Amino acid sequence: MKWSGWGDEATAFSDADKPGLRPFIHQHLQADIARATGAPVAFADVPVPPSRLNPGLSEHLVAAVGEAHLSTEAMDRVVHARGKSLRDLVRHRAGDVGRVPDCVVRPGGEDEVTAVLAAALAADAVVIPFGGGSNISGSLEAPAGETRTVISVDMGRMGRVLSIDAEARLAHVEAGALGPDLERQLNAQGWTLGHFPDSFAHSTLGGWIATRSSGMQSDKYGDIADLTRGLRVVTPTGTLVVRPVPSTSTGPSVREMILGSEGRLGIITSATVHVHRLPAERRILGYLFPTWEASLAAMQELAASEARASVTRVSDPEETQFSFATKKASNLVDKLQSRALMTFLQRRKGYDLQKMCLGFIGFEGSAEHVKAQRKAVGRIVTRHNGVCIGSGPGELYDQKKFDTPYIRDFLLDRGILADVSETAAPWSGLRSVHADAAAAARGAFARLGLRGYVMCHLSHSYHSGACLYFTFALVPTAAQVPIDAYDEVKSAIQQAFVDAGATLSHHHAVGTEHARWLEQDISAPGVTMLRALLDGVDPGANLNPGKITGLAAADVERNHDGVHLEGPSRRVVAEPVTRPETTAPAEPAAAAATPQPQPAPRP
Ligand SMILES: Cc1cc2nc3c(=O)[nH]c(=O)nc-3n(C[C@H](O)[C@H](O)[C@H](O)COP(=O)(O)OP(=O)(O)OC[C@H]3O[C@@H](n4cnc5c(N)ncnc54)[C@H](O)[C@@H]3O)c2cc1C
Repeated sequence: MKWSGWGDEATAFSDADKPGLRPFIHQHLQADIARATGAPVAFADVPVPPSRLNPGLSEHLVAAVGEAHLSTEAMDRVVHARGKSLRDLVRHRAGDVGRVPDCVVRPGGEDEVTAVLAAALAADAVVIPFGGGSNISGSLEAPAGETRTVISVDMGRMGRVLSIDAEARLAHVEAGALGPDLERQLNAQGWTLGHFPDSFAHSTLGGWIATRSSGMQSDKYGDIADLTRGLRVVTPTGTLVVRPVPSTSTGPSVREMILGSEGRLGIITSATVHVHRLPAERRILGYLFPTWEASLAAMQELAASEARASVTRVSDPEETQFSFATKKASNLVDKLQSRALMTFLQRRKGYDLQKMCLGFIGFEGSAEHVKAQRKAVGRIVTRHNGVCIGSGPGELYDQKKFDTPYIRDFLLDRGILADVSETAAPWSGLRSVHADAAAAARGAFARLGLRGYVMCHLSHSYHSGACLYFTFALVPTAAQVPIDAYDEVKSAIQQAFVDAGATLSHHHAVGTEHARWLEQDISAPGVTMLRALLDGVDPGANLNPGKITGLAAADVERNHDGVHLEGPSRRVVAEPVTRPETTAPAEPAAAAATPQPQPAPRP
């Protein structure tokens, strides 16, 4: 993983084969992407603070994991210091690496994890579990003023599928398994987990569980919260074992407490997860709809119908236009076909091409199942004046979805900040959440007096609602501090979510980035319960302090330098928890071919 950007050193985004992108960005952001105008500072010039690991603790950690698996090397520590949020990348690129861990340990099994945690607690050190380092919610960063030794526990050596119970369709897997390694092991035995977040290549089972992740095929397989049945977690009070039973009535769910716990309750060492037989057939088809309203209505009807799609995703007109702008140069036949399709859409279907929306719907299973589902979906799409544009765009989307995140670094090199905010809301509130969040972003662009672009897609449909995923880009002026301008836009969108009754995040977790909105989302008693849980399990605040609920007063005192968490979370620390009786519960949301277009990138 790059220390200042996304993914592998060998992979980069290029606009060379996408002739529509440069004019599109020029039109909407008045920025010229022809040449890179900036680059990350050279690593040699980054002032990496020296490790504070003392010889006594070092000796115990070596005894736990072996000398080869304890690192105090500067690059290793910096790679483990943060995740991959825009805030993380901007600071790293500028050489501001923050409170980097003092060491990285790589345990090889649960016994070693137990020994590491015991040594850390005995020395009153901070322990931060590390999966793939791909989170974008500030879930890994140590508080800037942390005076204790900080240990990053990288789970990368624990990536094995330990066993498969074919009868129960459950696999027991070590938590450090990266997406591709996990699928390779399962596929070899004819199984799949079916969890494919866009960060799949660089994220782990433990990280997915600890952030309540969601994958693109969640409509069929469920979110990681649905897939995870059993857990083993090394906690300060011993090893927590959640049995992999299909359902249980044992009081408030301990399994659910671990889901989304962001390393604050312990280190997940393994999980028992649903697995499915590899589908005989897998298809993702492209669809066009005349308007955003028609797209939402179609997705809603699809969710309420008996049709069982594996992927449901549709972009608003802004994201659709962006997708067309990133399509590859087309040959003459493609151009003619595209022109014919557009003429058909305008003349025969009455489309306004500026308002149309691009969607992808996926099907998986036996050939008969896929055929029947395509028909059922086709009927619903037709009722909403939509048209199927075949498998070409869908296949391309499927192939390229893990490469598109690289565009964020490309844009940063050109002075353009791009990031995402995502939420979930009931079907009855989705239209207003979409309108409010987009208006909030545009309002922020106007207040800042800069050029910006906001676009959105719906994905991950449920019985009662769906996820809305916003991507926004802005070009700060020379007089602005880029991250302050970014904060203004990001905060406006997040606030619009909670004001409209939607959640602060559907699948990116709270971390420090979204902690400011936690109380508005789950109410003051909810925060009180979470604090009681986290403080009860970890009274010394040794486990990834500051995430989810912000830093408690005791932690603030402990950090003699004060708290310097970047971004909105610092406000959480400053604000007292509102007393339950003064806080109203959150209101529900207001009732409420083209030739192979590319999917919109999702950082
Ligand atoms: C380009 C890009 C695309 C993304 N796409 C998606 C997407 O489609 N869907 C989605 O859900 N998310 C997505 N994300 C967000 C991110 O990938 C998820 O949050 C992911 O679940 C994080 O997993 P990780 O292994 O990288 O965890 P990390 O980033 O290493 O850690 C995240 C948190 O989990 C804790 N943690 C990690 N491992 C353990 C463990 N074994 N025990 C206890 N705690 C642990 C860490 O302490 C930290 O608090 C994307 C991010 C990027 C940058």
